[in-house]
Amino acid sequence: MRLALILQSLNQGKKIDEAVSEANEHENESMKNLVETILSMYDHLSLKTISLIREKKARIQAETELLETNKKLEELSITDQLTNLYNRRHFDKVFKRELKKAKRNKTFLSLILIDIDFFKKINDTRGHIVGDKVLQEVAICLRNTCKRPSDFVFRVGGEEFIILITDEDYKSIVSLTQILQNNIKNLEIPYEKKNLKDFLTISGGVACSVPLQEDTVDSIVKIADNRLYKAKENGRNKIVFE
Ligand code: GH3
Ligand code: MG
Ligand code: MG
Repeated sequence: MRLALILQSLNQGKKIDEAVSEANEHENESMKNLVETILSMYDHLSLKTISLIREKKARIQAETELLETNKKLEELSITDQLTNLYNRRHFDKVFKRELKKAKRNKTFLSLILIDIDFFKKINDTRGHIVGDKVLQEVAICLRNTCKRPSDFVFRVGGEEFIILITDEDYKSIVSLTQILQNNIKNLEIPYEKKNLKDFLTISGGVACSVPLQEDTVDSIVKIADNRLYKAKENGRNKIVFE
């Protein structure tokens, strides 16, 4: 382009020095324009990049918040609000899963159904709020007694709880339930304010076996339920295994 400009000036009758100087000036002007254009493009791109980085950061934060909210919602949906134990709904899911696993691996699965004895008496004599606190205290005690990661504790009704224990034999479950009964007794929760010797007890029905193919969630719960009924019939404060 420079050469063309020089030739053009020469054709117009200008001297070589003059033609070269004009071409140089023109070239400087073009370069300046080019640099300015590039700088302005760079400016524009930098602004765009910064705004994209900001957008990306905001999106990552929103995604993290969404994940946390989902996690909280998921936890809420499986938690009993009074005791913070797992709820009945979660029991159905976990029991189904663990039953399948125990059948496949031919391992023990134990369901301990627990019902507080004469709980109505606490509500009647000490009030519903105390009743709620007692349920919370019992829940903590059950949770602290069955605290392995493979132990699951659920509140499945008013004053009814289920403990699901995986991979522990009959003997271990017998001794676990004895510890449970003892720990509840040692809470020394009185039924009445004026009788401080009569403390809260629990009854339980246990289904403990290596499940057979034909066993179902319902059939196992029914076995434990019948045994709990027996415990109540036989005077309460008992855990029945057969
Ligand atoms: P049993 O030994 O036969 O089990 O007698 P019980 O009194 O424990 O059983 P019953 O079924 O007669 O009474 C259970 C009571 O539990 C009645 C109900 O008002 C109370 N209850 C259920 N849910 C709650 C709760 O969330 N809070 C309180 N405070 N009481 C509850
Ligand atoms: Mg009950
Ligand atoms: Mg009861």
